[in-house]
Amino acid sequence: MVVESREWFLSSYAADGVPTSEHLKLRSVKLSLDETSIPENFVGIQLLWISVDPYLRSRMTGHMDGLHFPQFSLGQVISEYGIGRVIGSKDSKFTEGDIVINPFMPLSEYSIVPNTFLRKVDPDNDMPLPEYLNALGIPGLTAWVGIELVGEAKQGLNVFVSAAAGGVGMFAGQLAKLKGCRVIGSTGSNEKVKMLKEELGFDDAFNYHEETDFDAALNKYFPNGIDIYFDNVGGKMLEAVLNNVNKGAKIPLCGMISEYNKAWTDRDGVRNLLNLVGKEVKMQGFIIGSYLNHLGQFEMDMQEYIKAGKIKSKTMINIGIESFLESFASIFSSSNVGKVVIHVAE
Ligand code: NDP
Repeated sequence: MVVESREWFLSSYAADGVPTSEHLKLRSVKLSLDETSIPENFVGIQLLWISVDPYLRSRMTGHMDGLHFPQFSLGQVISEYGIGRVIGSKDSKFTEGDIVINPFMPLSEYSIVPNTFLRKVDPDNDMPLPEYLNALGIPGLTAWVGIELVGEAKQGLNVFVSAAAGGVGMFAGQLAKLKGCRVIGSTGSNEKVKMLKEELGFDDAFNYHEETDFDAALNKYFPNGIDIYFDNVGGKMLEAVLNNVNKGAKIPLCGMISEYNKAWTDRDGVRNLLNLVGKEVKMQGFIIGSYLNHLGQFEMDMQEYIKAGKIKSKTMINIGIESFLESFASIFSSSNVGKVVIHVAE
């Protein structure tokens, strides 16, 4: 069987700014999925769902960036966390029709991929497929690691989450609430502020485009100071947080999306790091790849919370592989709500 397959590839590096059609291009290729075209230990896949994640930005700058993920080479097909259907297999563990998750799924309607990272979706688990890219995927795991293991959230602590209405932030806030914390979120629209308070159970939230004096905002929302800051944005918000932390506060550094589209020399410096010393604050970066030994515990916790209605997901579903560029740009504005995923095929 030979199929026509559209795929996104990197055409040129984007040192700064949000990548455009100059950097990311869609092309159509012919791909043979005959048995003889699939090597041993490889699987033929039809792409069904793909996640759209901020970290991809750091793989397109043309040089090793702070997140330390390898750069895509020019002409290389972009890969992302995705879900596909097996349509040919040279691995006895996978048969035609299986639904699989691949953390490095080519952004291609059809592909032949190594079996190395493939995991089967349990057909008896009646979760909707996009949930494996959301609460049960990278956003859920990242939030769980940051709140449970790095932040060590406990009853009564004051927790601040930035980018709180995005994929990671919405779960970080809800998990902290389940621990008995008081949780405040920042986000980029009034609609999202309302959602955080009325639908996701945050104690309060503010729109950082309107309350632009972050120091004053944090002072107002945290009269008793911040005990845990789950940092998704870095930059000026991190600086303001350091002026409002309590002694012994913990800062799980999850990401710094406010800085991803800037060359490092143009990024916002944090001028008050001295507060870390005086307040004996523990600020710790983490990457979920280092916590995969906790996957079993995370999945047990999260499935239980979802089934009990204790954790809610918000997913923004865009349609068709052609929507990738627009979907990717949306995560750097405040136009997305919840986790952005693309539905490529049924
Ligand atoms: P989402 O795409 O779901 O959300 C990102 C949100 O960030 C947007 O919705 C936007 O919401 C906000 N944002 C965009 N630009 C800015 C800006 N300049 N200033 C402030 N906020 C901005 O992303 P995720 O939830 O998947 O990722 C959140 C963070 O977590 C990212 O920094 C990402 O890199 C990191 N991450 C880290 C992992 C790890 O292992 N450490 C794993 C996965 C993600 P709004 O402006 O409306 O608030």
